[in-house]
Amino acid sequence: MVCIYCGSETEISNSRNQKKTNSKWRRRTCPHCQATLTTIETFDLSKAVSVRSNKSYQPFSRDKLFISLFYSCKHLKKPELVAGGLTDTIISKLMPRISDATIDISEIIEVSADTLKHFNKAAHVYYLAYHPLQTKNS
Ligand SMILES: [Zn+2]
Repeated sequence: MVCIYCGSETEISNSRNQKKTNSKWRRRTCPHCQATLTTIETFDLSKAVSVRSNKSYQPFSRDKLFISLFYSCKHLKKPELVAGGLTDTIISKLMPRISDATIDISEIIEVSADTLKHFNKAAHVYYLAYHPLQTKNS
C-alpha cells in the first residue's frame, strides 16, 4: 500500500492476527516520510455472505448493521464508536451461524437484540422498536 501522505510504497513493520474479529492488524511505515500507518485486513462479507429476507437475498451489509446500532445508541456518548465496537462483536457472533454462505435476517436481528440487551437497556428497546423479533423464514 502507498503512503497516504507522500504516495511512496509503505513497508510492514508489525503484524498481528486479531482472533476476535478474524482480521489482520498491520503497522506500516513509510521509508520516505517516516509516517506510521495502521491497516486492518478483513473479509469482504458483502461478496461472501447473502442475507435471506422474505425469500429474497441481498449481500450482507456491515454498513446497514452499523447504522441500525448507531441509531439504537444515539442516546449514548460517542455513539459512532460504540456502534463500531458492537458491529464487530455482532459480526463475530454471527460467523458460526452462517451456512452455505447465507444467514437469515431473523438471526441477525436476534443476535443484535441479544447483544444490546446485555449492553444497554435503552439501546435494546430502541433497536426492537425498529427491528421486531421475527420467526425464521417468515
Ligand atoms: Zn510517506
